[in-house]
Amino acid sequence: MPASMPTRCEDCGAEALCTFGESCHGGKLQWWESFRCQECEWGVEGDGLGSIPKPYRSLLVKEEGEWELTPEEGHHNC
Ligand SMILES: [Zn+2]
Repeated sequence: MPASMPTRCEDCGAEALCTFGESCHGGKLQWWESFRCQECEWGVEGDGLGSIPKPYRSLLVKEEGEWELTPEEGHHNC
C-alpha cells in the first residue's frame, strides 16, 4: 500500500501530497515516488531498486507497520 506525506511544490510552493511506496517486480524490491502539483501541474516521478530511502521508509513503517515491508516467509515471488 502506498503512503503519502505533505510537501510543497518546488515550482510554485503550493501544498501537495507526495505519494510513495514499495513494490516487487520479478522478485526484486523496488520503490517509487510520485508528486503532482494541483496548482501548476509540475510533477515528478521516480523509482529505484532496493529498499526505499530512509525518510520514506520511516513514514511507511509508521503508517503501515514493519510487517508490511518484509516479504512473508516462503513467499519468494514477492
Ligand atoms: Zn506547483
